[in-house]
Amino acid sequence: MIHIKSAAEIEEMKQAGSLSKQALRLAGSMVRPGVSTKEIDVAVESFIRLHGAIPTFKGYGGFPGSICASLNEQIVHGIPSPEVFLNDGDVISIDTGATFGGWVGDNAWTFFVGTPSEAVRGLCEVTRDCLKAGIEQAVPGNHLGDIGHAVQQLAEAHGYGVVREYVGHGVGHVMHEDPNVPNFGKKGRGVRLQAGMVIAIEPMITLGTHENHTLGNGWTVVTDDGKAAAHYENTIAITEDGPVILTQDEDGPWLPMQGGQK
Ligand code: MG
Repeated sequence: MIHIKSAAEIEEMKQAGSLSKQALRLAGSMVRPGVSTKEIDVAVESFIRLHGAIPTFKGYGGFPGSICASLNEQIVHGIPSPEVFLNDGDVISIDTGATFGGWVGDNAWTFFVGTPSEAVRGLCEVTRDCLKAGIEQAVPGNHLGDIGHAVQQLAEAHGYGVVREYVGHGVGHVMHEDPNVPNFGKKGRGVRLQAGMVIAIEPMITLGTHENHTLGNGWTVVTDDGKAAAHYENTIAITEDGPVILTQDEDGPWLPMQGGQK
């Protein structure tokens, strides 16, 4: 069942969204060679709790971290660890979620650690553009398939893979509500979009095959061919005035790709 939010509820959700973005901005500012993913996790959890919010992911289905930290061939759900250190040339996808005032904000970004390969840089730029293309389609009267189609078309035009098994989702009092928001689809198909829907759009795009599997830890999803993946996500509200990105702070909804910056 899709929960339609009132304009007042969407306003309330902006606080959770802003904290989620600020947490992600903090995480990105810490990305540099030599830092462990656990250090970033600890800082993000502290930041979220300091602001009276709850790290949404911690304990979700038993997930141990406050962030997901997915390196290189890891697509999503990487577990932060004191033994995983970032290296020059890596890319790291970080996902942060904050629950505040009973509402959830969910967002993700892939950052460069030092200098990535040209191939990986291109993958990240196109995946971010896929997110933008998906958001543009999130208007009343369109269908879910219009979002997925826009993402898929752009990614595949560059020869990239579109992950099928993990998708965007409705967001509200809990992180995962209806509907599912696939990154593939056909124009005009699927649920008709209406004002008051709040969804996370989150393209997961791969340099090689989109086929993937889960590691033995039960969480971390990796590409079958070991090639890199990228993941960008914002939570947006569909309104009569167009899509409104809820996961934004005073500096906006977009982050630098280069780690170590704000
Ligand atoms: Mg999400």
